[in-house]
Amino acid sequence: MKIWLDGGLQDTESARVSVFDHGLTVGDGIFETVKAVDGRPFALTRHLDRLTRSARGLGLPDPDLDEVRRACAAVLEADPMPLGRLRLTYTGGHGPLGSDRGEHGPTLVVALGETTRRPDSTAVVTVPWTRNERGALTGLKTTSYAENVVALARARERGASEALFGNTVGQLCEGTGSNVFVVLDGELHTPPLASGCLAGITRALAVEWTGARETDLPLDVLERAEEIFLTSTLRDVQAVHRVDDRELPGAPGPVTAKAMRIFDERSGADLDP
Ligand code: PLP
Repeated sequence: MKIWLDGGLQDTESARVSVFDHGLTVGDGIFETVKAVDGRPFALTRHLDRLTRSARGLGLPDPDLDEVRRACAAVLEADPMPLGRLRLTYTGGHGPLGSDRGEHGPTLVVALGETTRRPDSTAVVTVPWTRNERGALTGLKTTSYAENVVALARARERGASEALFGNTVGQLCEGTGSNVFVVLDGELHTPPLASGCLAGITRALAVEWTGARETDLPLDVLERAEEIFLTSTLRDVQAVHRVDDRELPGAPGPVTAKAMRIFDERSGADLDP
């Protein structure tokens, strides 16, 4: 397998970044996960826009998007696969121990892994920890992901594939790596960005394509929603058939099934909307 590092393709096994890279030592980095279908990246322009927004939020120089595009094309060409996940990582680069960045400039790594289509439905749990809707990193896709790792481990212990967070004022926010939608009285809703959730690209497409409303939702909406689904790059639209101890028999319900169908049709037709 090939990986993009230091401006060119390298063998994944021998590619090296500094042990003093700030992405490693202090989590000073951002990333994107981009789906690639038959070697073509899905919604790459939207991912690159978000990468730039995240870089600015962290005070990193704007990434060279021409290089990122060339890197994606190069790794995809080097290792063809039907369904891939591109991982774009961009860090503060290597510097002195401590939190100050060094003089060396950022590190860009673009890697590719194979993935598979997710099941149509899944179980989720809620976790007692909160997302901070007003933090310095809110809305940025940073490599500071340890909280999500802990929450996901809790979900796995309970036989679920995702953990859902509320925010500090008790509203539904998002999953560790997904956004959440609920159906109430037949209408589709998702938490607004002000809830502290990531501006998911799949979320944005689902809102555009289904007309879902962005609504402040109390966390206990999960106890009464008629349907619940998740969106993410690797899940697409995925129904929820259990939330904590509550079963949602028949998932995907009609609204979710329609969203899945729309997503399948449109995302197949235009891979870079
Ligand atoms: N929320 C978080 C915290 C995420 O990490 C992700 C994706 O990794 C999402 C939501 C979903 O975003 P997207 O649809 O762009 O994959």
